[in-house]
Amino acid sequence: MLSAPVPSPARGEGEAPSFVGFAEMRNEVTVIGAGVVGLATAVELVERGARVTLIERAPELGDSAASWLAGGMLAPYCEGESAPLSVVERGAKAIDWWSRHVPSVAREGTLVVAPPRDVGEIDRFAALTREYERVGEARIAALEPDLAGRFGRGLFFRGEGHVDPRLAMRTLRDLLIARGADLQFGVDGETAPTRGVVIDCRGFAARRDLAELRGVRGEMMIVRTREIALKRSVRLLHPRIPIYVVPRADGLFMIGATMIESADAGAMSVRSAIELLSAAYALHPAFGEAEILEMRAGVRPAFPDNEPRIVAANGRIYVNGFYRHGYLLAPDFAARAAALALQQQEAAACG
Ligand SMILES: Cc1cc2nc3c(=O)[nH]c(=O)nc-3n(C[C@H](O)[C@H](O)[C@H](O)COP(=O)(O)OP(=O)(O)OC[C@H]3O[C@@H](n4cnc5c(N)ncnc54)[C@H](O)[C@@H]3O)c2cc1C
Repeated sequence: MLSAPVPSPARGEGEAPSFVGFAEMRNEVTVIGAGVVGLATAVELVERGARVTLIERAPELGDSAASWLAGGMLAPYCEGESAPLSVVERGAKAIDWWSRHVPSVAREGTLVVAPPRDVGEIDRFAALTREYERVGEARIAALEPDLAGRFGRGLFFRGEGHVDPRLAMRTLRDLLIARGADLQFGVDGETAPTRGVVIDCRGFAARRDLAELRGVRGEMMIVRTREIALKRSVRLLHPRIPIYVVPRADGLFMIGATMIESADAGAMSVRSAIELLSAAYALHPAFGEAEILEMRAGVRPAFPDNEPRIVAANGRIYVNGFYRHGYLLAPDFAARAAALALQQQEAAACG
């Protein structure tokens, strides 16, 4: 399905390709899917001088993207609790990439705490991770004054941060428009004409092409309260239901997220709502007075080892399987996918 490089529209039928035509052909890449992976890949491509077409099936940015529902945590060291070293190492570069491309990336670290009855979880988490400082009650209060007196022990991961996913996606979209990329919304990339090498970033929708891809349901909510302020993502450890709260502008907080082996993106269950809300309330009772603005579920695309892959097959390059690390790993994979696409395009144009 690799589309042959198309002739420049300026060139007449039967006319020999001009030098300019070849130069253009070398640079043409179509990206399918405007989730975080497609957007980051398109940005890497325009920054390498490519002419990019980005095709998104949804009529509006984020309408059906798991990326829209993410916490936006850039937390490679915390993720080391369950993720392999490669995720930690590749993810460690993400915060700089996001800071270069998106305003107001929070570089305040991550605070990890546990309720008194689960305080043993802190040591378990510490044993599996690195790059943290052990913190006691006074340090927790200094970092997050509104949590003063609530937790006796915790871990502070100074080198981490977070980004507002919706702001990030809009910023990348605007950057692409400003750099002359052709963005097509409401267009199905499976049937639409493509130009040049095709990079498929359809997330879980690519499951028919990628047999091993599975869905991992993630439920989240967004609440608003002015009664509590947090500077950084706070993870509340629990043996069964670890949750996190990510602060956003204007008193908004994202509370996430469930991890359920299911490709169902339907409405949040009552059980999950109770669990997320109880955990937020345990973090701070002020969340009891918060307004609930959104309760939704997204499907994380994941391969069996929960690591993303770049797969050349069916004449296209698939970049998929980002599991719970789309924001964390998109910069690294986007750069490598963009380089591969331009190598392929160069070879196709010369051949
Ligand atoms: C609740 C939740 C919290 C999360 N929190 C974090 C976090 O804090 N940090 C982190 O790094 N990651 C997080 N993740 C994971 C992250 O969101 C995913 O890994 C990431 O969104 C996957 O991005 P993607 O671009 O591959 O897929 P998607 O975001 O799903 O994007 C795929 C896009 O392709 C489009 N598409 C599909 N089919 C077609 C077609 N035929 N033609 C054209 N377009 C098509 C879709 O409409 C969609 O816009 C979280 C996920 C969830 C659900």
